[in-house]
Amino acid sequence: MRIIHEIAAMQSWSENQRCRGRRLVFVPTMGFLHEGHLSLVRDAKTRGDKVIVSIFVNPAQFAPDEDFATYPRDFERDRRLLDKEAIDVLFNPSVDEIYPEAYQTSVRVEKLSGLLCAAFRPGHFRGVTTIVAKLFNIVRPHVAIFGCKDYQQLQIVRQLVRDLNLPIEIIGQPTVRERDGLAMSSRNGYLDAQERQAALCLSRSLRMAEALVHQGERQAKVILDSVTGELKKESLVRVEYVSLIDAESLQDVDQLERPAVLALAVRIGKARLIDNQILKP
Ligand code: AMP
Repeated sequence: MRIIHEIAAMQSWSENQRCRGRRLVFVPTMGFLHEGHLSLVRDAKTRGDKVIVSIFVNPAQFAPDEDFATYPRDFERDRRLLDKEAIDVLFNPSVDEIYPEAYQTSVRVEKLSGLLCAAFRPGHFRGVTTIVAKLFNIVRPHVAIFGCKDYQQLQIVRQLVRDLNLPIEIIGQPTVRERDGLAMSSRNGYLDAQERQAALCLSRSLRMAEALVHQGERQAKVILDSVTGELKKESLVRVEYVSLIDAESLQDVDQLERPAVLALAVRIGKARLIDNQILKP
């Protein structure tokens, strides 16, 4: 596995591989890797000839009062994990390499970036789309893999690629969970034992919604009220939103007439956790 820190070196490696006809598959991450990230890496290996994983904690997607400084980082451990997966390149640029002093451009996907998480993380998706567009121009992949756990992010990236005519295939991969149902996240480490236990209400409430739909419930309001009620039983949980949305437009739906996404965000202690589930009528 090659480790590349410079943009120019990454671009020329990719250019060289493209000239040889190799199909490049890219997995962008912020590091502190877990099985969720590794599932994307394993999928990447089946989709092309060379796999590039980036590790970059992107300051532009954190608001000033968010956890950029304390976001968990362990480069040595990540390096070992990726080495074991036998990927081709680990791209790990510095913040100065990505955002030099004179930097001033951002990329924004208008409507989708204003919904759901946007109300609680102003500017977040602008930071995400800016770094994703930059990484796409640096890594020049044919395919890029993202997790459905960050469902809004995935749809925004799909829109970005469509709108800017980027010749990149975007793949969404299912959420990997702990044995007890908690969606894996680099931020789960923020939870103490009591909070970790309380956090099970996310996956529990999603399963409850699935059961309701299975029993024939189609009204969004009924589903949302029961999910919110389940979350609120946990005194450590502060609900940010619970929404039933169209899988592409991310607009609220009133009735479950075709598959829709039940998406939620909560705060527990220092952690902000999101999760979602596709509900099929
Ligand atoms: P992050 O390092 O949090 O920016 O995540 C990097 C990529 O991994 C994103 O595409 C995430 O959606 C994806 N990801 C994060 N957690 C999971 C998970 N539990 N299962 C599958 N993919 C995940």
